[in-house]
Amino acid sequence: MSHQHHAVIIAGSGCAGHTAAIYAARADLKPLVLEGNEPGGQLSLTSDVENFPGFPEGIGGFEMIEGMKKQAERFGATYEWGVVTKLEGTEPPYTLTVDDETKLTCDAFIIATGARARRLNVPGEQELFGRGVSSCATCDGAFYKDQIVTVVGGGDSALEEALFLTRFASKVILIHRRSELRASQIMRTRALEHPKIEVAWNSEVLRVIGDQEKGTVSGVEVITHPDGAPSQKPESEVEKHVIPCNGMFLGIGHIPNTEFIKGVIDLNEEGYIVTIKGDVVTQDVKTNLPAVFAAGDVVDTRYRQAITAAGMGCKAAMEAEEYLASHPQLVSKS
Ligand code: NAP
Repeated sequence: MSHQHHAVIIAGSGCAGHTAAIYAARADLKPLVLEGNEPGGQLSLTSDVENFPGFPEGIGGFEMIEGMKKQAERFGATYEWGVVTKLEGTEPPYTLTVDDETKLTCDAFIIATGARARRLNVPGEQELFGRGVSSCATCDGAFYKDQIVTVVGGGDSALEEALFLTRFASKVILIHRRSELRASQIMRTRALEHPKIEVAWNSEVLRVIGDQEKGTVSGVEVITHPDGAPSQKPESEVEKHVIPCNGMFLGIGHIPNTEFIKGVIDLNEEGYIVTIKGDVVTQDVKTNLPAVFAAGDVVDTRYRQAITAAGMGCKAAMEAEEYLASHPQLVSKS
């Protein structure tokens, strides 16, 4: 690690973290970005980004995230590998433990650690991720024009993905492990009445079938449990079948990366950071601790877009800047 104390430390290097770094660096706060477990975040897993304004021909997710990092570095942000494993203090300066060993202090801390899409952990899923397997219909749906796609899950996210995909795909097959959807009534009605959506009930995904070299998916092997419960029979005796498709979308929820701040920062039941309500403009980036801000998917359970994460990163950095400007005694210690 470069040195011990920083005016601003940003945890996470997805769209929110990079944008916070650009703004904090341009405010001459020389932020340190700790890149986290998944440098680049969800965006770096996306093949092409076609909905970020300003790129009429689209841009590769990795290319975009690299561009953001270079932009922040140009203004004085520094990046280091490292995962924040502990946050201590109730007011600045805060002490951060990185990778369970190094201690750093900061006057303002921006949490942009994101949320990871829950995975099935079945063969083929990881190998074909970003090349036929996706966790973001908004990002990748348009690549499946007139093709057949599957969506795994039975909650609001899965149904939202399935409905979104009907704009492009010729058929959307929802694969759900039970015989009843968890999603809200309105989403259930919309999905079940949609002519392009079929449901494979009581079905559990066993593996994703595809060509790893070409990066294409050709089907999903499932096992069907007529009673909805996983079979107790040995795998060799269980009937399996393949659902042919060109892509598989995961809609089985997200896991926010907030384990390290549990008990320190207010989280909701699902582990997402609860930001302060009541102040309409800043409500989505202020946490319960002064000078600790949060941005992107670690807060956002609804939009989860590159552009919304970037917007929150911008707000978090501007709030940090304002906090430090109004507490000059803190900045002088940097
Ligand atoms: P969720 O409600 O927890 O649903 C997850 C779904 O994935 C469930 O159907 C679950 O099956 C299934 N699942 C989980 N692990 C699985 C596994 N290993 N294998 C197969 N299936 C698995 O998550 P969500 O849909 O992301 O929603 C999270 C929250 O955000 C909810 O409160 C939701 O209402 C909200 N949300 C709202 C909107 C909206 O209002 N438009 C959109 C998206 C999300 P089981 O049902 O069998 O448990």
